[in-house]
Amino acid sequence: MGLQEAVARAFDPGAGLAQSVKEFSPRAGQTAMAQAVAATLDSGGVLVVEAGTGVGKTFAYLVPALLSGERVLLSTATKTLQDQLFGRDIPRLVAALGVPVRTALLKGRSSYLCLHRLSDARQDAATQSGAVLRDLAQVEAWSLTTRAGDLAELIQIDERSAVIPLVTSTRENCLGAQCPQVQICHVNLARREAMSADVVVINHHLFFADLNIRESGVAELLPTVQAVVFDEAHQLNEIGVQFLGRQITTYQLDGFCRDLTQQGQKLALGVADWRALVAELASSVLSLRRLIGEGNQVGRIAWFSGEPVGVDAQGWQRAVADLHASLQQTDVVLRSIEDMSPEIQGLQERAQRLTAELDIFSHPVQPGFVRWLEAGTQIRLVQSPLHIAETMQTRVFATDAETKSRKSWIFTSATLGHDATMAHFLEDCGLRDAKVLQVQSPFDYPSQAAIYVPSQMPNPGESSHSAAVAALVADASIVLGGRTLVLTTTLRAMREIAAALRHHFAQSSAIEVLVQGESPKRELTERFVNGATPGGHGCVLVGSASFWEGVDVPGDALQLVVVDKLPFSPPGDPVVEARAQHFQRNGKNPFHHFHVPQAAIALKQGAGRLIRRETDRGILVVCDVRLIRMGYGRRILAALPAMQVLATQEEFVRALRALTKPSTTDQRWCATRAPESLTADNSFPARAWCRPAAG
Ligand code: SF4
Repeated sequence: MGLQEAVARAFDPGAGLAQSVKEFSPRAGQTAMAQAVAATLDSGGVLVVEAGTGVGKTFAYLVPALLSGERVLLSTATKTLQDQLFGRDIPRLVAALGVPVRTALLKGRSSYLCLHRLSDARQDAATQSGAVLRDLAQVEAWSLTTRAGDLAELIQIDERSAVIPLVTSTRENCLGAQCPQVQICHVNLARREAMSADVVVINHHLFFADLNIRESGVAELLPTVQAVVFDEAHQLNEIGVQFLGRQITTYQLDGFCRDLTQQGQKLALGVADWRALVAELASSVLSLRRLIGEGNQVGRIAWFSGEPVGVDAQGWQRAVADLHASLQQTDVVLRSIEDMSPEIQGLQERAQRLTAELDIFSHPVQPGFVRWLEAGTQIRLVQSPLHIAETMQTRVFATDAETKSRKSWIFTSATLGHDATMAHFLEDCGLRDAKVLQVQSPFDYPSQAAIYVPSQMPNPGESSHSAAVAALVADASIVLGGRTLVLTTTLRAMREIAAALRHHFAQSSAIEVLVQGESPKRELTERFVNGATPGGHGCVLVGSASFWEGVDVPGDALQLVVVDKLPFSPPGDPVVEARAQHFQRNGKNPFHHFHVPQAAIALKQGAGRLIRRETDRGILVVCDVRLIRMGYGRRILAALPAMQVLATQEEFVRALRALTKPSTTDQRWCATRAPESLTADNSFPARAWCRPAAG
């Protein structure tokens, strides 16, 4: 039986998965995607699939991949998604399909317990704080039973715990073949298992990091697989450029100083004046920090010529030269005693690498790259390519030519473009001759969802805008009993809206306001969902950045998504500016060809949080009048699924109240119009946001 026939049988509504997987329900779009994936696995080549929310894209690529009998590499965006694929979806399908497939999970080295560092941490326990010692005891106990050594198993320890860097390795401090624990090393075990598995699950970070430094095994793996699937492919470019670039950070330098002090005094006491060496290095790092304003500046600072914009040129050159000299001096000292131990040799190699990285930033930026300084809790000097296209062409797809095989490359996500061509995605990823498929969401958006753009909102640039958004959210969330997700375009707006909401609910405590960053995302989402259960405290969740995607709350726990402004890329960001200039150089208007499509894709992602299954209902509110007053607003609206339009505040309030009642089969909140017909009707009464009447 051919692969396409086997896939058809697996998705047959009367057989296959329908009989063996409880949660499975046949969907035409899912079957079409699975057949397209199967055809690509048969013939090789590139397939790009945008599969709208609810299509079931994971099964649509996993089933053909598992049935193909080929060696497959699966890459997704985060470690959490990796764990879901490896721990839940793949085992379920392997059992249902009855295929003898060996699977492996491979993460970056920082995800695994390093037995050598654990033993070092044990010896240095006397110098650690109480909190670190408590966590260390948990790690010790777990280390006796774990097979994989994957720290994700240690759910009782916060991933931000100070013990994590003490018990994990970096490329710099791993002893490699000279390590006494090398035979039982968890990192090596994960890599060996990946090399012998049929299906290997990795993440995009690891994929690109390994292309750059070739140390975690993916580069060896790539020529041996017949198919590569990138899920959450919309994140590939952003993740890729981070890792394909060069960088040196104060975090790396601080870590080097710490290890130099510890290892130098432990392994080569009296051989060199370790304290003086470290003091000189630390003083050069401090000079850099002072120049950037001791943490007063946050964010990316453009860097076009010799020094970052706004930084004193002479001071910068002096600080970089001092740091360079300190690193070189340390390198010379370490080189003279490198035979003393593998640890000293490792330190010498680090000093050499840090010097080489710093050198890059002492020379002009290469064409096709963008350079910037990132200021915050640490300082990062970064230089990266504008997109991953060239690397994909020369170092990823080129493996086909090296191995004289025609691999299959599948790229998929719920959002890959603002129109059916997905031209930007193809261009950024260097995808030529790709087959492009758009599979529409099976959801009935006109019945399930509505959109409202309050025309009385202040312009997005006005100082009163965040307060007006908060007022709308406060009133609407009272009607719904919480169940509201607020997505902001900046952290500042997030803080302002959250503070205004907390002030509003301070007396009544009617609604709990949850804010990004105050707890881990998973915990915030759980509290948000629990808030909607009977007797629960209704919640409003306010988030920015990562909350625009990856928040998955099916059911009526989430009924309202409020977007503060159109999500245009931040002006002044050096990477955004460099990309815009790239369009200009190619004779294209950056606003129309870059900024508007980017905003449309981001809004589509945010709006995707609202409807997660066939029975969901909800309202999307976009508090940005540009969507209805400006010409480009039509283009952005056209990228959204066709929803009902709520043209006035009265319609909005009626729709909110309808959401509090059980849904009917023919849910209609108001006259249905396609989003394209949403224009500046100015029909909203020119008065402040009014409170809905009780009941
Ligand atoms: S080989 Fe490296 S990662 Fe493995 S135990 Fe030794 S130091 Fe740690």
